[in-house]
Amino acid sequence: MSRTLTSLSIVAFLIAGTTAALAQQKPPARGIVNVTGQLYRAQNDNHYTVFLVTPEGIIMSDPINRDFARYLKNEFATRFKQPVRYVLYTHKDWDHASGGVVFADTATFVGHANMRSGVALPGGTPALPADAVKMDGNRNGLIERNEATGATAERFDLFDFNRDGILTANELIRGPVNDVHLPTVTFRDRHTVTLGGKRVIMVPLGTAHTNDSTALYFPDERTVFSADVMQIKRLPQSLAPSVGAYVNALRTIVSLDFDHAATGHALMGTKKDVAQSLQYLEDLSKGVAAGIGAGRSLPEIQKTLTLDAYKGFERWDTHRTVHIAQVYELLMGASRAGATPTN
Ligand SMILES: [Zn+2]
Repeated sequence: MSRTLTSLSIVAFLIAGTTAALAQQKPPARGIVNVTGQLYRAQNDNHYTVFLVTPEGIIMSDPINRDFARYLKNEFATRFKQPVRYVLYTHKDWDHASGGVVFADTATFVGHANMRSGVALPGGTPALPADAVKMDGNRNGLIERNEATGATAERFDLFDFNRDGILTANELIRGPVNDVHLPTVTFRDRHTVTLGGKRVIMVPLGTAHTNDSTALYFPDERTVFSADVMQIKRLPQSLAPSVGAYVNALRTIVSLDFDHAATGHALMGTKKDVAQSLQYLEDLSKGVAAGIGAGRSLPEIQKTLTLDAYKGFERWDTHRTVHIAQVYELLMGASRAGATPTN
């Protein structure tokens, strides 16, 4: 009796221990929802991708990372009984474009021509980025594994292009993109992919966010997918390289004929929502220009240009004043130079 009780308590103890361990390393939130027809949106925590099921296989967008790609591959095999025939990239950034190798046995990879050069190791002898200089304890201009901290330590192997355990400035500038499977089919103008009677049009978005940013347009599903450039009721992270690049990109998207706006982060929406994001950028630009015209300083403009119409947007309270500063610098730089800046 007492022996059984002891065994039971050990079992209970083991279960409690396992539960605690599981709670500690929380698994990513994952799921698949239908957008319309055979088009689906899949989630990995804060990142999203889309895929279209056709009778001849699956066309998907960003793989996000290797572990999520394995999860998707299993879902595709069990739920849809189809292999991936195409992986279509939205842009080169590691947090969207990693993990494609999982589909390399069946898929063709397609991306903007600038994605290939963007993932390549940059040449020359650049200086260490400012945040890396702080890590460089022995001041040899390199970040050894034991010097790396924070995100650099966490993603060290994704940065380390030649896998020698040391990060050069070139490797740091390239980014943590070692697990990005390169596109073999590239384009510079609109590019159409067809499979199983379905079409996807890859629409370049200029230089907004990255110089390979691409929207995926599913004309029959009346859906657009874009990561990081298109946001719904959410301000962009940054307006790099310029607010004008974002305006152009969103104008390109709004010129398409669609109903569903599927994003790489957060909410989905409609074409009307995308038009509202474009309106934010236009109101921001006009507001800053008017403030400069009225002789106001940057802090004064940041205080008075509240852009209240976007108060319900995510990041309104944190990113609006940063965007005002970015546009202010751009306009003041242009007036100082007496010309329109090229970036
Ligand atoms: Zn990005």
